[in-house]
Amino acid sequence: MPPAPSSARRSTRSTPPATSTERETDARRRSGPRYDRTVRFRLRGDTVSDLKIAFAHADAREERTVTTGTKAWELYRDDDKIIAARVNGQLKDLSYELADGDEVEGVAIDSKDGHDILRHSTAHVMAQAVQQLFPEAKLGIGPPVENGFYYDFDVETPFVPDDLAKIETAMRKIIKEGQRFERRVTTDHDAIAELKDEPYKIELIGLKGSGKSEDAAEGASVEVGAGELTIYDNVRRNGEVAWSDLCRGPHLPTTKRIPAFKLMRSAAAYWRGDEKNKQLQRIYGTAWESKEALEEHLHRIEEAERRDHRKLGRDLDLFSFPDEIGSGLVVFHPKGGIIKREMEDYVRQRHIEEGFQYVGTPHISKEGLFHTSGHLPYYADTMFPPMEFEGANYYLKAMNCPMHNLIFRSRGRSYRELPLRLFEFGSVYRYEKSGVVHGLTRVRGLTQDDSHSYVTPEQAPDEVKHLLNFVLSLLRDFGLDDYYLELSTRDDSKKDKFVGTDEDWAVATQVLEDVAKETGLELVPDPGGAAFYGPKISVQARDAIGRTWQMSTIQYDFNQPKGFELEFQAADGTRQQPVMIHSAKFGSIERFFGVLVEHYAGAFPPWLAPVQVQAIPIAERHNEYLEGVARQMREQGLRVEVDDSDDRMQKKIRNAQLQKVPFMVIAGDDDMAAGAVSFRYRDGHQDNGVPIDEAIQRVAAAVASRTQV
Ligand SMILES: [Zn+2]
Ligand SMILES: [Zn+2]
Repeated sequence: MPPAPSSARRSTRSTPPATSTERETDARRRSGPRYDRTVRFRLRGDTVSDLKIAFAHADAREERTVTTGTKAWELYRDDDKIIAARVNGQLKDLSYELADGDEVEGVAIDSKDGHDILRHSTAHVMAQAVQQLFPEAKLGIGPPVENGFYYDFDVETPFVPDDLAKIETAMRKIIKEGQRFERRVTTDHDAIAELKDEPYKIELIGLKGSGKSEDAAEGASVEVGAGELTIYDNVRRNGEVAWSDLCRGPHLPTTKRIPAFKLMRSAAAYWRGDEKNKQLQRIYGTAWESKEALEEHLHRIEEAERRDHRKLGRDLDLFSFPDEIGSGLVVFHPKGGIIKREMEDYVRQRHIEEGFQYVGTPHISKEGLFHTSGHLPYYADTMFPPMEFEGANYYLKAMNCPMHNLIFRSRGRSYRELPLRLFEFGSVYRYEKSGVVHGLTRVRGLTQDDSHSYVTPEQAPDEVKHLLNFVLSLLRDFGLDDYYLELSTRDDSKKDKFVGTDEDWAVATQVLEDVAKETGLELVPDPGGAAFYGPKISVQARDAIGRTWQMSTIQYDFNQPKGFELEFQAADGTRQQPVMIHSAKFGSIERFFGVLVEHYAGAFPPWLAPVQVQAIPIAERHNEYLEGVARQMREQGLRVEVDDSDDRMQKKIRNAQLQKVPFMVIAGDDDMAAGAVSFRYRDGHQDNGVPIDEAIQRVAAAVASRTQV
């Protein structure tokens, strides 16, 4: 069972880090300290003024002796890209005072953590500006998010675009002032007194006290962490405190270090994400390490809007989401249906070639099945509520694996049958919150190209390799040839969220890791990202504009075979338990479809294009001739439309361009006389007088090779 695509946590990773250095930093951060050998230092008796620290930069580690009282920034005097420090794995302000034995690493402004710190610091500046202009505004929370930040405010009236412009102007002034971010440790008691006019902050302090700050709201951990409570003062050069905020930090050293920012929009948001709470006004902004980086980001947004599959889905008449059916439930129109069928035909055929057997299962099941599989209770939040009838609870299925297990168990199995591979288009339903439902990429009803391989533990590595090669070749055929792998493992600090013994997890993780490494592809660790029943490899594909999408998944499962008491008879006659490997290649057809629309900006390669050839008669007297050409093309299995409308030729060409049809064949008197057509491509270039046979051959070759034109 592949997981629901990109939860909020995952979506923060749906865009790849921009540089390889950044990815390294990211990977390093997730995998813990990058040095095998951590040397601890002690103060050496008499020379108390000397501290030994380890100073990491680029790929080197250097031991240094510094005097007591040295601040982190002193290590980075000559490097203005460094805006914070990672000390013993924890992010600190540059004003942090070094201690003996510290391991210090600079955090560059253009790294993942650097971006977060820059953006969150910019959120402080924005909040200061808002409270200057709207003194009644109460502060909510203001965390960094993917590519930007936001801050929530309780204000009487929603912000309008004009307000954002004023806030930006005020922010520029604050940035110019070069206010220092100064950290101050406080107590709950003092903070409550100081923040008496900020009811939301006080609520957060209360939640921290009760140990619930993690659950307070998404992003609330930015304000109050598990440790001591701190307030950050923004201090002007003359020592005056301009503004303060409850925050755990870290921040930039000064507001001057914000190179480029922009406020994007405002929207309503419930306090702590709960619609029972008051509606606040959220302002979104973005901040970057340079003006150029900001420009590029804005350009990417524009490009993403141009490619938005929801818009293209309407323009190209591919699919819709009728209100009458319900949120997140799609209907494919005939043209979208063609693309969907091409995808299905392809993947069905590929599965058969790869040794899978095609099966079918129903959409609903009695509750007990999902208890056996462990989806209840682990996965209950994502399932639609049950329907009760004939004295039993029935659930819409959110995954196909339990039913495949029943097929496996339907009779005795011998080791000779393994690997036993079952595959189907399984329609599943997942209760996604209305706030996260998004076009085709996050739906409530979806169809997975779902497969389960039952293997002996010894066969597992080869099967994983087999599946990984399968999915990579599939992605390439669909034009996605830039990807990396992610290895999602258990969160060892939350073992109760995962089933199985330490040993089972270690074995499963090792198998996946070995195979993933063997591909030579970049492998990014994702600790805590595993499904409850086992670790997984996912393929993260980059689309035409560099965004990353989690597509195919391969999961190693030792739990469900246990729960379902699956067994096979081994060569020595004993009964043994198989390992089950879940895999979805597209993931969900709907999501993959949406990604393809955006990747190609609607201009599909000929083999996927709903209409492959638009035939355009120059005048009405050419209609019949082109009908004949179209007929011959259709006999070759090509999808052709003849535009016999009254429109002028230029209009017809324009319409075909808007529909992003890969080929146009145009015919006038000369073509007719020569038994030829004029060929026109998407880029506008034209070949005149192409004989009919050759024209058909050209299109057929492009379709067969699955190439883009
Ligand atoms: Zn499964
Ligand atoms: Zn802060």
